[in-house]
Amino acid sequence: MEIVESIEAVRAIRWQNPSLTWGLVPTMGALHEGHLSLVRQALIDNDRVGVSIFVNPIQFNDRADLERYPRQIEQDTRMLAELGVDVIWVPSEQTMYPARFQTYVDVELMTRSLEGVARPGHMRGVTTVVSKLLHVFEPTRAYFGQKDAQQAAVIQQMVRDLAFRSEIMVCPTWREADGLAMSSRNVLLDPVERQAATVLYRALMTAQRAWLNGERNAQYLKTLMTEIIQAEPLARIDYISVADPADLIEIERQVEQGLISMAVYIGKIRLIDNITVGV
Ligand code: AMP
Repeated sequence: MEIVESIEAVRAIRWQNPSLTWGLVPTMGALHEGHLSLVRQALIDNDRVGVSIFVNPIQFNDRADLERYPRQIEQDTRMLAELGVDVIWVPSEQTMYPARFQTYVDVELMTRSLEGVARPGHMRGVTTVVSKLLHVFEPTRAYFGQKDAQQAAVIQQMVRDLAFRSEIMVCPTWREADGLAMSSRNVLLDPVERQAATVLYRALMTAQRAWLNGERNAQYLKTLMTEIIQAEPLARIDYISVADPADLIEIERQVEQGLISMAVYIGKIRLIDNITVGV
C-alpha cells in the first residue's frame, strides 16, 4: 500500500497500467465501519482501490465544528492496510487549495434545501472538493454513502451535468446495533449523549412504520417524528424533512416516494440521518 500526497504521485500510480479499473472512496478520515463498507464494496468492484483522506475546510460553515473534527490518520492507515487498499491519498490543504484558488462548483436547485439551508456554503464546498478529487484521480467508480443522502444525490447530478467519466456508486447506511448511523462525529458524544442519539433512528423508524401502514400525509409524518425528538431532553431539531428523492423538494401533501431526513443536535454535536420510503 502506498501513501501519497501530491497530484503527480496519484496520477502516476493511477495510470501505471491504464487497463486496470480503479475505485475511489473519498473520506475525511476518522474511519469507521461505514467508511469500511464502502471500501469493501470498492474492493469487490475494481482491480485497484484508493481512499482519499482530506478534512475539507471549505465545507465547514462552523469553525468550531472544523476544529473539533476528529483526526486519526495512523489508525486510519492501519485499518485501510488491513483491508488491502492499494493507495491512500492524503492531500495537503496547499495541494487542494493553492494560493489564489478561486474556482468553485455549484449545483444549484438541489443544494437549496435541507443541508443547503442549514449549512450555507457546505454543499458548494463538497461539490468543489469532490470535483477536484475525481478530476485528479479519475477513478472508474467513486463510492459515497446513503448516510449523506443529499450529498450523494447532488454528486450524481454534478457528474451527469459535467460529464465526469467516473460512475457514482451509492452504498447503504451502516448503523450501530442500536440503530445510530455510524459517523465520525459519534466519538464526540459523551455516554449520556450517545444514548440520547438513538432518538434519530427511533423517529425515522416510527415514520417508516406509519408509512408502511398506509399513512401518506407528509405533515403528519413530520409531526410524529417531531414529537419523538422533542421528548428527548438533550436533542434539538435543526430540521425534519420529507422530500422528493429525485429533486429534494419538500413534499407538502401525499408521500408516495420520499426521502425522510433530519438534522438534530445532541448537545453541541449535529447529527444527520435519513431513510427512504417507496423507493
Ligand atoms: P465522511 O468521511 O464523513 O466525509 O464520509 C465519507 C463517505 O463515507 C461519504 O460518502 C459518507 O456518506 C460515507 N459514510 C459516512 N458514514 C457512513 C455510514 N454510516 N454508512 C455508510 N456510508 C457512510
